[in-house]
Amino acid sequence: MFIIQPHYHAIARTAQDYERMAMSGVVAVAEPAFWAGFDRDYPETFLDYFKQITEFEPTRAAQYGIRHFSWVAVNPKEAENPELTDAVCAEMPKYFKNKNVLGVGEIGLHKSTPNEIAGFEQQIQLALDHDQLILIHTPHLNDKLHGTKKTLEILENFSDLDRKRVWIDHVEEHTVKMVLDAGYWAGMTLYPQTKMTGERAADILEMYGWDRMLVNSSADWGPSDPFTLQECVMECRRRGLDRQELLDIFHNNPCRFLSQCPNWDIAPIKVVDDPLTT
Ligand SMILES: [Zn+2]
Repeated sequence: MFIIQPHYHAIARTAQDYERMAMSGVVAVAEPAFWAGFDRDYPETFLDYFKQITEFEPTRAAQYGIRHFSWVAVNPKEAENPELTDAVCAEMPKYFKNKNVLGVGEIGLHKSTPNEIAGFEQQIQLALDHDQLILIHTPHLNDKLHGTKKTLEILENFSDLDRKRVWIDHVEEHTVKMVLDAGYWAGMTLYPQTKMTGERAADILEMYGWDRMLVNSSADWGPSDPFTLQECVMECRRRGLDRQELLDIFHNNPCRFLSQCPNWDIAPIKVVDDPLTT
């Protein structure tokens, strides 16, 4: 089984993660820029962070045969500081030139404050101006429905936005349909305690199919586990999905979305049955 982990915060994890992921079939990870657990005060701190995820992490992943890609952004929590957002946005185009960068993300809303909304809009426009893919975080459960609706409303104001180039992440049962119906890609994030479980993700895949669907584990500095993704693979296999369907969900769909960025060079895989074993 070949697996792509499309949302993974490597800087918060140890090399043992990479090793175990490699042994379980993970061939590539993509690392969005996110919150460090505290609000950073200086734009330069972001630039060093971008350096870490665009230059250092690919070398660490490569030691285990895993490709590493990244996204750059000011996350929703720190977008509460408009001066910081402006200063970081001014530097971001430099990173778009890096061969491992996939686009602008994760951006979006946390509590849907005016500053967050302004920072979100500013970064959507930045992505459009530089022809970048967009990865959007949706808020945690207590504001999930409202925050997702608000996210869709804000996106509607960008008439030149190609919705197939936008991935809205952390969808759940009550938000997945509105995201898919509007023409965006939807991501399900599997956490051991919060967000989604492998079983619930498998239910949603059964209900809605997997056209424009991505599954990921996030895995960051909080209670999280990259192998919730493999649990979901196992659950889907238990429910009778065949090898091609598993590859389509867990390898080929990330390739289909991410290959809209020219830096992504991993192709979808088609199962060819071995005539000697059939
Ligand atoms: Zn994240």
